[in-house]
Amino acid sequence: KSLPYFCRGEVVRGFGRGSKELGIPTANFPDSVVDNLPADISTGIYYGWACIGNGDVYKMVMSIGWNPYYKNTKKSMETHVIHKFKEDFYGQTLSVVLVGYIRSEKSFPSLEDLIAAINSDIEEAKVKLELPEHIKLKEDNFFTSTT
Ligand code: ADP
Ligand code: MG
Repeated sequence: KSLPYFCRGEVVRGFGRGSKELGIPTANFPDSVVDNLPADISTGIYYGWACIGNGDVYKMVMSIGWNPYYKNTKKSMETHVIHKFKEDFYGQTLSVVLVGYIRSEKSFPSLEDLIAAINSDIEEAKVKLELPEHIKLKEDNFFTSTT
């Protein structure tokens, strides 16, 4: 089993699917990071910890999905950091650890249903990450090694 899975990479522009307009911005990793994902990390929604540059470590939820831009032949990794940032952080280094799995990818009948599902994913992440075995990953040296 590949969890916990640590990785980092530059935040690149996504396809502007309006995540930010929904109040749920998702920071995209470049293909180089996605291509390194172990095969047994399936698509779906994950929770874990994330930091930008040398900043604080926050809770996150990540969607690993089939990327429609590449006719669903390539995966994408999109991280929503559970924190309000004053500014965007395109071009900065995002470090994450994937800690646990929430659910598989789904399509929803309406935008309201999608937003409700994401908000419930966020609530689940917040609770699960408080477990002692998960909270210790927040302090992992991975997040303090300067890059
Ligand atoms: P894109 O299609 O470029 O990914 P989004 O609408 O999904 O656009 O917004 C993502 C961008 O928003 C991130 O790359 C980052 O710079 C910024 N951002 C601001 N706050 C957050 C946050 N809490 N989590 C993730 N990204 C955030
Ligand atoms: Mg995005």
